[in-house]
Amino acid sequence: MAKTKKLGSVARFGARYGRKIKQKVLDIEKKQKKIHKCPFCNKTQVRRIALGIYQCKKCNTKFAGKAYYPGE
Ligand SMILES: [Zn+2]
Repeated sequence: MAKTKKLGSVARFGARYGRKIKQKVLDIEKKQKKIHKCPFCNKTQVRRIALGIYQCKKCNTKFAGKAYYPGE
């Protein structure tokens, strides 16, 4: 059976909503779900806990960032 190719997390949308828009969502979701680097202790332990809010599992700091990822 042919598996869905490059859909990743947006495969949940099935055949709907169009390719371009799903590509954009996929881009954002990839960044969002990634574990980011902490700007305080430099460990890669930061997770997004809510819109614009991130928490480092190592040093337990909560800080604000961009909506979908902490920032550059
Ligand atoms: Zn930290």
